[in-house]
Amino acid sequence: MKKPSKKSTISQSHSIPASANVSSSAAEKIKSLRKKKQDHAKILNRLLQGSQTALGQAITLVESNNPTHQEQASSIIEGAIASAGKSIRIGITGVPGVGKSTFIESFGSHLLKLGKKVAVLAVDPSSSISKGSILGDKTRMENLVKEEMAFIRPSPSGDSLGGVARKTRESIMLCEAAGFDVILIETVGVGQSETTVHSMCDFFLLLKLAGAGDELQGIKRGIMEMADAIVINKADGENIKAANTAKLDFKRALHLYPAKESGWMPEVLLSSALYNEGIPVIWNLIRSFEKKTLENGYFEENRKQQSKFWLLQSINDQLKQSFYQNPEIKTALEEHLQAIFDKKTSPFIAAKQLLEKYSKL
Ligand code: GDP
Repeated sequence: MKKPSKKSTISQSHSIPASANVSSSAAEKIKSLRKKKQDHAKILNRLLQGSQTALGQAITLVESNNPTHQEQASSIIEGAIASAGKSIRIGITGVPGVGKSTFIESFGSHLLKLGKKVAVLAVDPSSSISKGSILGDKTRMENLVKEEMAFIRPSPSGDSLGGVARKTRESIMLCEAAGFDVILIETVGVGQSETTVHSMCDFFLLLKLAGAGDELQGIKRGIMEMADAIVINKADGENIKAANTAKLDFKRALHLYPAKESGWMPEVLLSSALYNEGIPVIWNLIRSFEKKTLENGYFEENRKQQSKFWLLQSINDQLKQSFYQNPEIKTALEEHLQAIFDKKTSPFIAAKQLLEKYSKL
């Protein structure tokens, strides 16, 4: 926490020597600030008119860790927020190789034919290590990439899951403000990434494979619980029989879970993303979900709860950052840690004392 400056505005302005040099550099600064303001006002305007270039530029600002860019990103988001929210956000998850990108390509193309504007985003906290394993490879979704009404953006990299999540959430809003009406958010099951994506989408789709061994035991229980639909992909050729068996197994398993707050009963469907089969049925299912949850109020309520979650999450993140990056706290933390090692205090007492110290800074 910063101490409020004791200097008055007058004494501060007196401390600046009124040399010609300084005033010209100050003028330059003001000019450049004005230009930056104009730049991001331009980006915002073009974004609101549906420009994909402007959308890309705005997301680049959101993804940047540079404080000036972050400020610009915040004003673009503030200007965009009233136009956001008018889309359906669909989370898509599944193990690598299940066919996520093939599915998104097929599903996205179907939506484009229906006249929808489709944005594809990704949440992949491992992308900083693998340099963008999701959507990073340009050969993935090669047809969708060429479509004018589709916008594809790889996962922001170089961040923790928390950082990636914030950036993706803000990118969703920007896509919506640019007129995209279906937002697909892809994730692989790395750590908590599925839970994170679930907390930013309206509908959560789990892609599975049949005959991949002990399917039911292989899934983390929580993910089955989050799913609004399970789609068994690669239901083609010799795989069809196994896919039908898996469908029954998953259906049976889903019945064991408690009813969802949304009032929605998750369904199990089959698809062949490679041969574009089963895709319209999945979209119709999502439309029924949307209709049902708009009618029973869950759709809006869920978005409110998600906003609340992200507000609290951001406060937690920022508090933590401000605490751990404070130089006085850093030193005190080391001292307290040593005292704990020397058995002079306990971790709980030390934590309390450190927080007290922080609150007085
Ligand atoms: P991802 O890692 O989950 O994104 O999976 P990909 O979309 O890259 O697909 C992995 C492999 O499975 C690729 O060789 C695809 O061609 C293949 N594949 C994807 N969907 C299907 C499908 O529906 N049927 C068949 N037979 N192969 C598929």
